[in-house]
Amino acid sequence: MQYDADIAIIGGGLAGLSAARSLLENPEVRVVVLDPFKSGKNNPTRLTFCDTLAQYDLLDCALEQYRAFVMITPTGVSSGHRFENPVLAGLNYLAACRKLEKQYLDPNPNFQLVRRRVTGFEDLGDGIRLTLSSGDQVRAKMAIDASGKVHLLGNLLGAGPVEVLYSHSLGLMYENCSHSVDDECYFIAGSTSYGSGGGWYYPVENRRASVGFAIVNDSVRFPAKDLKDNFHRAVAEFQPFAGFLKGARQIHYESGTIPVEPLEKMFYDRVLITGDAAGHATPWMCMGVEPALLNGDLAGRVARQAFEKGAFGEEALIAFQKQWDSRYRQAYEGVTKMPLKLWDMPDEVWDFLIQYDVSRLNAEQLLARMRDNGHTMSKPLTLMRWLMFKAQRKFKTSRRTESSLGERT
Ligand SMILES: Cc1cc2nc3c(=O)[nH]c(=O)nc-3n(C[C@H](O)[C@H](O)[C@H](O)COP(=O)(O)OP(=O)(O)OC[C@H]3O[C@@H](n4cnc5c(N)ncnc54)[C@H](O)[C@@H]3O)c2cc1C
Repeated sequence: MQYDADIAIIGGGLAGLSAARSLLENPEVRVVVLDPFKSGKNNPTRLTFCDTLAQYDLLDCALEQYRAFVMITPTGVSSGHRFENPVLAGLNYLAACRKLEKQYLDPNPNFQLVRRRVTGFEDLGDGIRLTLSSGDQVRAKMAIDASGKVHLLGNLLGAGPVEVLYSHSLGLMYENCSHSVDDECYFIAGSTSYGSGGGWYYPVENRRASVGFAIVNDSVRFPAKDLKDNFHRAVAEFQPFAGFLKGARQIHYESGTIPVEPLEKMFYDRVLITGDAAGHATPWMCMGVEPALLNGDLAGRVARQAFEKGAFGEEALIAFQKQWDSRYRQAYEGVTKMPLKLWDMPDEVWDFLIQYDVSRLNAEQLLARMRDNGHTMSKPLTLMRWLMFKAQRKFKTSRRTESSLGERT
C-alpha cells in the first residue's frame, strides 16, 4: 500500500504532533504522522512551564502545578525558589499527546496517523519515499524527523549523532506518598551515589509522586543495572524522599533516554530534524518538553512556508536552523563544549553550584536558567565564590543556603 501526503512526520511525540498542528494551519497541506506506538506510551510525568502549556492549550493536561522549585544535593545542600503564581507543571505527557491528536489533528481530513515504524528513506529528486516496517510506502514532498532518541533520518543522512550525550533515567510513579507540600517540586543534583544526571521528585494529585534518577553517558544503550541499583539505594536512604515514599506503592515505570546535545545540522534537502531527534532538550537540566513544543511548531511553520513556495531544498529549510541557532546555539554550546566531565564531577562541585550559584538567583533568573541557561556566573565570579565555598568548608562554617524557602540543610 502507498500513503500519499505533502509532509510526512516521523514520530508522534510532542515534537511531531506540534509540527503537524502547525502545518495543518494551511488547509491545503496533507500531513501523515508515522509512529509504531501510542505517543508517550509509558505515561510519563514531565516538569515543564505553565505558560508554554497555556500557549499550546495543554494546561489542562498538567497533573499538578507548582509554586515552588527546590534543588537539593544528596549531601543535603539545597536551594528553594517560591513564585507568586504556579509557573511549573507536572505534565501528563500521554494526555498532552492525546489532546493534540484528538482535538486538533484527527478532526482534520488532511491528517493521517499511521501506526507503523519508518525503516527507510529515499530522496527521489521530486519528493521523498519512506519505507515502513509493514513494507508499505509513504510518498511526500518532504519529511520532518521527530523520531526522538533514535535520530532516524539524522543517522540515515549521516547527520549524527556521532558523539552525543544521553541522559538515561529510571523513574517510577508511586501512590500513597506522605509528602506534605503539594505545590513544591524537587530537582535532585547529580551525585556519585545516585547518578550523574541527578533526579526528580514531582508530587502530583491524589498523594502520588513521580520519582526518578538519571545517569548521563555517551552511549545510547540504557544502563539498566546501574540505574536500578542507584534508584533502590536512593529511595531507601535519601531523605526527605525515602520518608515520603515509606509505605508508598509503585504504580508504573516512567523511564527513558534523552539525547542532550544538539546536532550541528538540522536541515537537509527535503528534511528537517526536530525535538529529541535533533538534541533539542536542554543539556543543563535535560528538559525537552518545551523545546519539543516550540521547535516542533517552528519546524511545522518552516515546512508550511516551503510548501507554500513549492521549494523544499536546503535554501528554503535553512530558516529552521537559523531561528534555532539564534535563540539557543550559544547557550547550548556553553554546556556541551564541556562534555562528560561536566556530569561526572565530584559531589562537592554540585554542593557548590547549588549553594553559591542556583540559590543566588532570584525567581525570574531561575526560570531564565532553566529555559536558556541564563544568568550563569562569569569565570572570575565562579573563582571567587569557589574560594569562599572552600574556605567555608574548611572552617566548618554553616552550609545553610540562602533559600527563599528558609533553612533546609
Ligand atoms: C524519563 C524521562 C524524564 C524526562 N523528564 C523531563 C522533564 O521533567 N521535563 C522535560 O521538559 N523533559 C523531560 N524529559 C524529556 C522529554 O520528555 C523529551 O525531550 C520530549 O518528550 C521529546 O519529545 P519528542 O517528540 O522529540 O520525542 P518523543 O516523545 O520520544 O517522540 C518520538 C517518537 O518517535 C517514534 N519513533 C521512533 N522511531 C521511529 C521510527 N523509526 N518510525 C516512526 N516513529 C518512530 C517513537 O515511538 C516516539 O513516539 C524526560 C524524558 C525522559 C525519558
